[in-house]
Amino acid sequence: MGTLREQIKQKRQEIAELRQQQTDQNLSSIRELYEEMKQQQKEIEQHQNKINTIFGEIKHELIDLSATMDKEQKREVARFLYWDVPEISTKQIIDCFSDDQYKSATISGMVGSLTLTKTCSSCGIECKQKIKNRTEQKLKRNQKIFCNLCQKKKEEAAESARIKHRKEGDRLEKEHIRENQVVQRRLNHLKTMPYDEYLETSHWKSIRQKALGRANYRCQLCNKNGKIHIHHRTYKRRGEERPSDVIALCEKCHAKFHDKETG
Ligand SMILES: [Zn+2]
Ligand SMILES: [Zn+2]
Ligand SMILES: [Zn+2]
Repeated sequence: MGTLREQIKQKRQEIAELRQQQTDQNLSSIRELYEEMKQQQKEIEQHQNKINTIFGEIKHELIDLSATMDKEQKREVARFLYWDVPEISTKQIIDCFSDDQYKSATISGMVGSLTLTKTCSSCGIECKQKIKNRTEQKLKRNQKIFCNLCQKKKEEAAESARIKHRKEGDRLEKEHIRENQVVQRRLNHLKTMPYDEYLETSHWKSIRQKALGRANYRCQLCNKNGKIHIHHRTYKRRGEERPSDVIALCEKCHAKFHDKETG
């Protein structure tokens, strides 16, 4: 028996070998499946070739037959092929069954429309649906349909949801307008009231307090503290002052301001 280190080394090697074996196995089964898939595809191709050959024969038969068919019979066969045999292309149908020797006939003129009977996805009643062409047929094959009554109910439900939504929108809009009006009225009041009354408002007191805080309770010109005034540099935005609209000043500096300007 080797050392512990050697034992670990050996175990690791064993695990690595097992992993390699597992990987090889997985790879070989993938290869086998892929070979199987290719084989099946080859068979599909062979079947497709056979189908094409049979279709060629059918076409010949039909061309021969169409000589003996009258207009109505041709229409009937074309109709059957168009709606029930999607493998046969529209062009092939026109080539075989058009009465028009220049083959300029339209397929819808030849085969008309298809009336599909389906059950209403909501109430289960049978209802008829008119299908104009193959594209529509393919599209509507798995589509849910609703009878007129259920369709109407659905639309009404959607409409009432829409109305409810709109009413809610209107309500919010009105509320918003009302709030704006209140703000605007309050602002007008602040702008037009006498100045000494304005200085007593909670709005100004809060502006003043904030300005004092920003200036750290010192004069912003000479840096002295003590009794600090908040001076309006402009009255343009009274009631909605920006921080730069006001300045903190000591009594002395404030007096200098009011010597130079008025207000
Ligand atoms: Zn229904
Ligand atoms: Zn002032
Ligand atoms: Zn000062």
